[in-house]
Amino acid sequence: MDTFLSPDQLALRAEVREYLDAAYPPERVVEMERDETFPDDFWAECATRGWTGLPVPVEYGGRGGGVLDLCVFVEEVAKTCISLSTLYISATIFGSHALHICGTDEQRSTLLPGIASGRVRFALAMSEPGAGSDFASMTTEATTSGDAWRINGLKGPISGAERADVVITAARTATFEDSRQRGITLFLVEAGTPGMTFERRRFAAMKALVVNNVSYDDVEVPDVARLGDRDDGWLNLARLMDIERTAASAQMVGVAQATLDEAVAYAKVRRQYGQPIGHYQAIGHPLADGLTDINASRMLIWAAARKRDLEGPCPLEASMAKLFATNMASRVASVAMQTAGAVGYEANSHFVRRLLEARGGELGGGTSQIQRTIISRRMGLR
Ligand SMILES: Cc1cc2nc3c(=O)[nH]c(=O)nc-3n(C[C@H](O)[C@H](O)[C@H](O)COP(=O)(O)OP(=O)(O)OC[C@H]3O[C@@H](n4cnc5c(N)ncnc54)[C@H](O)[C@@H]3O)c2cc1C
Repeated sequence: MDTFLSPDQLALRAEVREYLDAAYPPERVVEMERDETFPDDFWAECATRGWTGLPVPVEYGGRGGGVLDLCVFVEEVAKTCISLSTLYISATIFGSHALHICGTDEQRSTLLPGIASGRVRFALAMSEPGAGSDFASMTTEATTSGDAWRINGLKGPISGAERADVVITAARTATFEDSRQRGITLFLVEAGTPGMTFERRRFAAMKALVVNNVSYDDVEVPDVARLGDRDDGWLNLARLMDIERTAASAQMVGVAQATLDEAVAYAKVRRQYGQPIGHYQAIGHPLADGLTDINASRMLIWAAARKRDLEGPCPLEASMAKLFATNMASRVASVAMQTAGAVGYEANSHFVRRLLEARGGELGGGTSQIQRTIISRRMGLR
């Protein structure tokens, strides 16, 4: 598999692994997840080593990395802790790519250097409690009085919102009889803008990340904070979703690989009936299937990433990568947990945590059913 990566990508992966192994031993990850604490030293290190600048173009102080570079990075981080990689995706990838897709020159030159240096973090607020898969049914509204907008509504669940400096907020600005998707506009809403408040949502996993509902009560933003053309937010988000889905899939490979590695190590030392349990075909074959699935998933993800880097939009490839990776991670995590018997089922066990992380992957960025709908539509079936 490594023959598909460049020397720079292999070096990046090795550097990330070395740092995380030293700074984040398993017991530290358990503590962070239990106490819902996001480690600021991770962000500081990402900034120092230039990782926050990975998705940012060189002319804005970044490293100008492509989507494949990002996939290599987030897979490695997710092996250690998916809360870290998810915050990275929201804070840097969403911000830099959204600005690249539809930002103005002024927005790019104001915000991209901050992302690259780790000073500015983003979050993306599309979903609402009443509008998840059917995101076009959103009720958050923005009304204009000329050179300013007032936003009212409730967004959530939003990853890392209370840790963000800028929340990209999707709001309805018009309705069109011929299209439910038209009439949505994106805004760059700065944290601390009066009327914006955060409430924590508590999920079964990814607790160190912190996920919020964000309430907008007459939040006023200037027209220069509009991101992209008025009423065209859906199109821009669709282009961003290609990257989000591809990177989120890479996280799932990281989760699956980490839990499989632990299960294999356990199967080699745990003895029952006088032999290591890994000698039993009933244990070894599902683990072999797991490794095969993980590598198949990597190929789909890297193919989507390469297409995005070389040719542009890749909605079909990104949805296939996400559908396969998230289902695969749930299967592998379940096999890994079964391999470890009662040890795998203990409270705070990494096996339980990773199974829950894998299940979460089947929700964010569009559920598995929605990915199937996108794929079947591209096959001309609906
Ligand atoms: C931890 C976490 C972090 C998140 N972070 C963000 C974020 O940063 N920003 C953001 O905007 N959103 C975020 N989300 C929201 C996420 O995108 C939504 O959860 C997702 O889109 C699904 O919406 P829903 O949960 O409302 O489920 P629903 O849309 O209510 O769906 C419920 C079930 O019905 C199924 N379903 C719905 N419609 C159909 C259909 N037409 N055909 C077949 N099945 C269907 C779904 O697949 C699902 O199984 C996050 C979610 C989680 C869990």
